[in-house]
Amino acid sequence: MHTPEGFTPSHARPGPLPANTLAFAYRDDKILVGGTEEAPCVPDSSSFNGLGLGGDHHYLGELAGVACVAVALAPDAPEPAGWRYAGLRSLFFRLPEPLLAIAARAFQVVEWDRTHRYCGRCGTPTQNKGGERAKECPACGYVAYPRVTPAMMVLVTRGRELLLARAPRFPPGMYSALAGFVEPGETIEDCIHREVREEVGITVGDIRYFASQSWAFPHSLMIAYTAEYAGGELQPDATEIAEAKWFAWDAVPRLPPSISISRRLIEATVARLASTGGRPC
Ligand SMILES: [Zn+2]
Repeated sequence: MHTPEGFTPSHARPGPLPANTLAFAYRDDKILVGGTEEAPCVPDSSSFNGLGLGGDHHYLGELAGVACVAVALAPDAPEPAGWRYAGLRSLFFRLPEPLLAIAARAFQVVEWDRTHRYCGRCGTPTQNKGGERAKECPACGYVAYPRVTPAMMVLVTRGRELLLARAPRFPPGMYSALAGFVEPGETIEDCIHREVREEVGITVGDIRYFASQSWAFPHSLMIAYTAEYAGGELQPDATEIAEAKWFAWDAVPRLPPSISISRRLIEATVARLASTGGRPC
């Protein structure tokens, strides 16, 4: 997920919100939607306000000229007749992609709002800080911004083979690229070397950037790379990796869904190996 075309982000509400403002309202990690299961819709503020659910509002910006707000509902907010609370993943391929991207952005803002009500340093209730999306402690001045957690993904190749692995939580038969969270003090490249060594016991080189993706589960920024095998024997870490194997470029197994950057990374690499027979010079 990314910033959709035609979206102008902002944290400062320009004035009274018009009736067509889109309200991305979350109760815990579920978003309020109407419509059918196959064709869900996001309420505008005239519909939303009529439901009387309240909640803390955070202005997000405008999507094609239409204002968007994230709303943090109370955990015990009722489910009004004709509406339902849906998991974000259940809206994949059903909600138009720009709306899905704003819904994911709204989730991260609401999640931050919900988890930063008190100062992490002194425990005093925080206040929204003027001029930026931040919460400030009135007692000690500590400022907390929405959290974004960087993680790397790397697809390792060895000639015309790809290294794909299965985490124990994956559906049966599904494989993906390696991934892991950046630790304090690391660069992304450090993280790639460490995770590859820890997860499968090999070394890599020729690290090349591919693309990045915001991933709202709950606040990751996934930064994807390719790398070439440099040495070592595959020795999968038993707790994080159920299985890791080299696959020929024309015999890849079942892959993650197309919305994920891992799928794009693998497909782009397969296309490169198919057309060039190896890495570009
Ligand atoms: Zn404080």
